[in-house]
Amino acid sequence: MKLKINLLEAKSILIKSGLPGSDWVINPYNGCLFGCMYCYAAQIARWKHPDEEWGTFLDVKINASELLKKELEKLEKKFGKKDFGFIFFSSVTDPYVGMEAKYKITRSCLEVLANFGYQGGVGVQTKSPLVTRDIDVFKRLKNVAVGFTVTTLDDKVSRFLEVKAPPVSLRLRALKGLRDAGISTYVFIGPILPYFSSKEDSINQLLDKLQEVGVKEVWFEHINLSPKIKTRLFSFLKKEAPELIPEFEKADTEEYRQALERVIKRAVEGRKLKMGLGKVIYHRKLPKKK
Ligand code: SF4
Repeated sequence: MKLKINLLEAKSILIKSGLPGSDWVINPYNGCLFGCMYCYAAQIARWKHPDEEWGTFLDVKINASELLKKELEKLEKKFGKKDFGFIFFSSVTDPYVGMEAKYKITRSCLEVLANFGYQGGVGVQTKSPLVTRDIDVFKRLKNVAVGFTVTTLDDKVSRFLEVKAPPVSLRLRALKGLRDAGISTYVFIGPILPYFSSKEDSINQLLDKLQEVGVKEVWFEHINLSPKIKTRLFSFLKKEAPELIPEFEKADTEEYRQALERVIKRAVEGRKLKMGLGKVIYHRKLPKKK
């Protein structure tokens, strides 16, 4: 499949965030070559690419670090301090998508934050071990946490649904590398994959493994089956594994969510794990079954 890489100049880079736990978001890229089948960004970050398949295009914001420097200086004048809240990389791309090895847009933005002496929190969330390249910059930031998205322990499941993302085994190794380097880490289990990762045993195994690599904080997120996400995901499942469709359908009910939350609560209790925001995140309310 041919990839389209576009270099462009963004108009702004530090954007007010509506995400839980974040005040600002930086997307060094638009689009994501990992092409996960459950990706919500596939619907919202493709307005410039309406006819291109998600996972086949990437807009590289070549002026991101320059813009960030200017925007930080402006906000410092406005707030009179170097802390404007929590800055998150990224909401509609992976900040360490493969092309980051070449363009270093994320790295240059982190360097700008470090050189500026940013005093607030910075969060970086990825599926790529390339993030370990930037340990030197993380060490220069006052308050940084690096998170890995881990939705399963099985590389085959990860390859199936997170099509071109680095296998989960490499993510776990990278997590350990970051921890050994003294960087604060967390794991984002999101979405909790119906059928593959939602059973009590799978959740327990996943948390045991994460603790083995030194993870102390875990975030959980219910799968988002909004109509657009569902259309893309289900047309893929229909072709590749139609028997899974009823399993995913089940996950789109309040009853499923509540049962899963009880399982997660049991699994987290007694493990001395911190649960991000103290709850399982969801992105849309579901009607209760009559
Ligand atoms: S890594 Fe994140 S942004 Fe990229 S396709 Fe997967 S879910 Fe979407």
